[in-house]
Amino acid sequence: MKYALVTGGSRGIGRAVCIKLSLMGYNVIINYANNITEAQKTLELVEMTGQHGEIMMFDVSKREQVSKTIEKWQETHPNDYIDVLVNNAGIRRDNILALMPEEDWNIVIDTTLKGFYNTTQALLPAMIRHKHGRIINMASVSGISGIRGQANYSTAKGGLIAATKALAQEVAAKNITVNAIAPGFIKTDMTDDLDEESIVKTIPMRRFGTPEEVAELVGFIASPAAGYITGSVISINGGLYT
Ligand code: NAP
Repeated sequence: MKYALVTGGSRGIGRAVCIKLSLMGYNVIINYANNITEAQKTLELVEMTGQHGEIMMFDVSKREQVSKTIEKWQETHPNDYIDVLVNNAGIRRDNILALMPEEDWNIVIDTTLKGFYNTTQALLPAMIRHKHGRIINMASVSGISGIRGQANYSTAKGGLIAATKALAQEVAAKNITVNAIAPGFIKTDMTDDLDEESIVKTIPMRRFGTPEEVAELVGFIASPAAGYITGSVISINGGLYT
């Protein structure tokens, strides 16, 4: 049994990734934090592919919640391990730094960076034991170029890229790859409040990307064909920033 865990699998890019990985033959564990209804919809879509799916609730930024939930899963699946982890959960709280409340600084960074630390550390020992793993971190163009009004989000995603490169070197010899994906503007709930009409004028391809396009890239990185790619940051942004 092959298992993949997708944090923030209830909606948007995470949902598309769950479906893609299930089409590749993975049993998919769909993590969410608040939105059980949407997580259940993802589960239905996963099961429609003929693959097994499970819902797993935890807030990625809460260390004990993450470790206890994953420990419990491991106890009930003594012969299995999770060999694909997609650290996808993320949030935006945009504001210029001069006006940014401390809470918005903390929650964005904690969701991305503590989320990466908590979830990855909980799954790494089994990957190391089995000498196989794929860790795929959902960064952003914002973490590469920096985007005004997103100092918290750019910091979080830039940190995630640095963590990707560091961890890749730590675990390469164990046949575990660690890569980051840096999407530009993708049509999901996260970008729903943006002025799409004016933003697309700045994108060479003149459109937002789709969650399915990002999921295809995740699928490739998770596949055996990508076995020699590690420590990389792969952009998917319609030419927005190269
Ligand atoms: P989205 O539609 O807003 O979905 C966010 C997902 O993250 C939801 O499943 C949500 O769960 C989950 N989540 C949020 N906080 C969480 C927490 N503390 N613990 C566990 N799960 C949590 O976002 P999206 O556009 O699909 O974005 C997915 C990832 O891609 C994010 O990391 C985002 O930063 C990144 N990204 C997105 C874009 C874009 O243009 N959309 C561009 C670059 C990068 P609930 O449903 O339970 O709330």
